[in-house]
Amino acid sequence: MIKRRTKILATMGPSTDKPGMLEKVIKAGADVVRLNFSHGDPQEHMGRAAAVRAMAEKLGRHVGVLVDLQGPKIRIDRFADGRIELNEGDKFTLDTAMDPRGGTRECVGVAYKELPNDVSGGDILLLDDGRIVLKVESVAGSKVHCRVETGGPLSDKKGINRQGGGLSAMALTDQDREHIKVAAKLDADYLAISFPRSAADVNEARELMLAAGGNAGIVAKIERAEALDALEGIIAASDAVMIARGDLGVEIGDASLPPVQKHIITLARKMNRAVITATQMMESMITSQIPTRAEVFDVANAVFDGTDAVMLSAETATGNFPDKAVAAMGRICLEAEKQRLTTQSDHRINTQFERIDEAIAMASMYTANHLGVKAIAALTESGSTPLWMSRISSSIPIYALTSHVKTQRKVTLYRGVYPVSFSIPNTDHAQVNRQAVGELQRCGEVQDGDLVIITKGDLMGVMGGTNAMKIVRVGDMVEPTN
Ligand code: PGA
Ligand code: MN
Repeated sequence: MIKRRTKILATMGPSTDKPGMLEKVIKAGADVVRLNFSHGDPQEHMGRAAAVRAMAEKLGRHVGVLVDLQGPKIRIDRFADGRIELNEGDKFTLDTAMDPRGGTRECVGVAYKELPNDVSGGDILLLDDGRIVLKVESVAGSKVHCRVETGGPLSDKKGINRQGGGLSAMALTDQDREHIKVAAKLDADYLAISFPRSAADVNEARELMLAAGGNAGIVAKIERAEALDALEGIIAASDAVMIARGDLGVEIGDASLPPVQKHIITLARKMNRAVITATQMMESMITSQIPTRAEVFDVANAVFDGTDAVMLSAETATGNFPDKAVAAMGRICLEAEKQRLTTQSDHRINTQFERIDEAIAMASMYTANHLGVKAIAALTESGSTPLWMSRISSSIPIYALTSHVKTQRKVTLYRGVYPVSFSIPNTDHAQVNRQAVGELQRCGEVQDGDLVIITKGDLMGVMGGTNAMKIVRVGDMVEPTN
């Protein structure tokens, strides 16, 4: 059976809490679940993480858990009546000093005290993901006086972005710092940082995570205009990046998103990092059982661009058909992956390799792509060899054989990489080879006569120690030594 290579992230929420739905979502193909800390409380997220792990165990699946911090999303406060209607040409004031529950048609509170310092006359502020457009006319004390350029309904707690970026809020709020401890406690596999501006923001989050006793991979969400100027540094500091098209599109303009998505994916792969494409991929499936044609193309195009993973947000968290959205994404990815442009690669052909394990990973992919190899078995501690391998486009499955649960879960995000629980029986290489191949045979992945590439280190069980590649034919493995 051909396996899907592109991974699916499904956001948990009230819809996946419904009886039986989590099982359906995982069976439909969710590889990683996202706990969105912008909503709900820590207790709720702990409960969901436990439920996901129990279900994965029950189904014999490896499912990663990603905690997504809220970050400094700047929001309006509340209206006395819950919502108002703004018309083009109206005056409307954002006020950091007024009653946070007392918004009216003329003004509303904002908790972010720096707003009047960060904006000036002529700035464009976008509310509710750009649905409402305000132009700043003047700033006086705590008040930002605006004119409505695009009106419409506006309700409590909607987000505010400034066109072009430049709001000075720190990436990690006090609440995020508390939530990092929760993420460590629930043993998150990934921690996503919202609105980082620089590598320093990512590093700080990693330090806090380590201090809290966690070891989650850090995912930088690219969702501020400034992040694009510091992109290389941010990617280098992260384990993975997310193209957070929602907020990013508001800041840089929707039309700039497609080229930026392609650029981020290419750069992340080149820098040996995983990349997630997120937001509104299957938006219509919140209420519809099938995606629009445009959504089908969006998911397929992300696969063509080389993304590791595609993400579902409200589609699974609050939508009517979470499992169907996952299944639809799955079938679109699978079909896109059959196209030649996703299986061919000249990536790194002209670059120098820095490390031995990297060189082995590259040599393996070159060989695999040219010799008709059926599968790759990477014996790995940290998962870095399969990550390197998966940066090369290919249709050959890469099995990450590892005894570390953490690594098994981490590779759930990597395109074309499948975790297999494997403990190294002893130090006899010939025996280990047979055992590794036997494991793939048992899973039904290879048969007698198939060629398999095995990568491992002389000293098995050592991080970063991969220094050998071996090609074996299944059923024909009587080599006395390695
Ligand atoms: P969010 O991030 O869903 O947490 O806002 C993703 C995005 O902005 O696209
Ligand atoms: Mn966002």
